[in-house]
Amino acid sequence: MVKKRNFLFFFISALVAVLIFVVIFLITSENILQSPGNKEVSINGIGSSLEKTNVQLKGSLAIIIIDDFENRISETVYYIQIEESDGLKEYQLIFKKGKEPGGISGQEIDAIGKLEGEKFFVEEYNLYTPLKDPNINIGAIGVQKTAVILYNDRTHKDERLTKEEVWHKVFNLSYNQSINSYIKEISYNKTWLEGDVFGVYTLPCDARKRDPPCYSGGWEGREAIMDIADPDIYFPNYSRIIAIPVNICCVGFSTIGKSIVQTEDGRVFLSYLKVGWADIDRGTGSHEFGHSLGVMHANDYECGEKVVEDNCETLEYGDGFDQMGQCFDIKHCGHFNPVHKEFLGFFDNFTLMKIEDDGIYRIVPYELLSNNLQVLKIPVTYILNWHENSSYFYLYYRQPIGFDSRYSNLSGVMINIDSTLVYYGRRDGKSRLLDFSPHSDNEVPQREDSNDVVLRKGERYVNDRYGFSIEVLEENGEYAEVSIQGL
Ligand SMILES: [Zn+2]
Repeated sequence: MVKKRNFLFFFISALVAVLIFVVIFLITSENILQSPGNKEVSINGIGSSLEKTNVQLKGSLAIIIIDDFENRISETVYYIQIEESDGLKEYQLIFKKGKEPGGISGQEIDAIGKLEGEKFFVEEYNLYTPLKDPNINIGAIGVQKTAVILYNDRTHKDERLTKEEVWHKVFNLSYNQSINSYIKEISYNKTWLEGDVFGVYTLPCDARKRDPPCYSGGWEGREAIMDIADPDIYFPNYSRIIAIPVNICCVGFSTIGKSIVQTEDGRVFLSYLKVGWADIDRGTGSHEFGHSLGVMHANDYECGEKVVEDNCETLEYGDGFDQMGQCFDIKHCGHFNPVHKEFLGFFDNFTLMKIEDDGIYRIVPYELLSNNLQVLKIPVTYILNWHENSSYFYLYYRQPIGFDSRYSNLSGVMINIDSTLVYYGRRDGKSRLLDFSPHSDNEVPQREDSNDVVLRKGERYVNDRYGFSIEVLEENGEYAEVSIQGL
């Protein structure tokens, strides 16, 4: 009897110990759930497991992307904007590597971490989707009221541009390399720019000494540039700012979508980009404007000798057909790919279709407004956190039309994928072009390899993992016909 009681006591004690251990493990383990689709997600352990020195911030994101085309790298910088009684507070968010949220400016975020000066080191976060008001945050359809601000540093103060020259490169629809011409065409006339040119303003700094805002003109520099223009501009009349350093150099950068900007005229929701004067009509202006509208880069997905697998390399700017990639030319590259066009709302319901059944589908080139089908979304499903999720292959027919005129030898269809397929639910906003003539890196230089990507007439691609096949039955410049089986 005594032995039995001892055993029972020991057993219960052990059980309690195990339970305590499990509870402690659960509340201290780092467990950030990325947003699957449009659902709101939660963090385990907020407020219970963290050191008292850690603080919680809740606000909206301002995301800035800085382009370094030469070295084919880009830097994404995140800020949290917090409404406080004494004004708008802003801190730079430093995420752990691989835990960056992607997303778009204006998204609500709840973060726990350590504040050091103006920087906030994020331990855990919760990103809320969808946007509270997509029309405000993105608003990529219709007129884009744009204020162009010209500025110089004090060493270049005598160098001038006429407002007509600037208006021509940014707004003139009769000039086929203007930002407006590009945006209007790729949006099927759904989006266009209207606005005004202000300046040239002289900033009291020296670009040669790399004084911000003259040299970098980064996000921190916008205040000085907007302040100096503020007496002439009523900012609530605009939703887009294009800052142009007339003769000081520079990388291009833009916000991803719109964020809150404090002006003398009150708080305004604006996108803000900077592009050098020489680069505006070389495609860089339209690239940065694409970021302002809300899209990230058009990349290449490189799986060696395979078309698509898990964990392949993503080459930044690697989609050489797309203005959000890089085509290394002094003129514009081609149209945004369908992943980005769909995000911006450029397609009509009948031109882009999510297919559900096996069959033969006919699509027409996707460059011009059409009454016919232009893009097929081929569904793939995967399991994330025990839930079934969907992603898509975007199949389309790029032909030498309009801003795609340079691509005269594309005799097949192209496919891009969304990042949700690569990261199992996480959206980094970057599209990835698949290569249907893949080589290993030593056979063909990567850039050349990525120029030859189409699935040609007569070719059949079988995706073992998701169990479907795509065969191109016909391709003649007017349309392409594909057979999709095994869905
Ligand atoms: Zn970029």
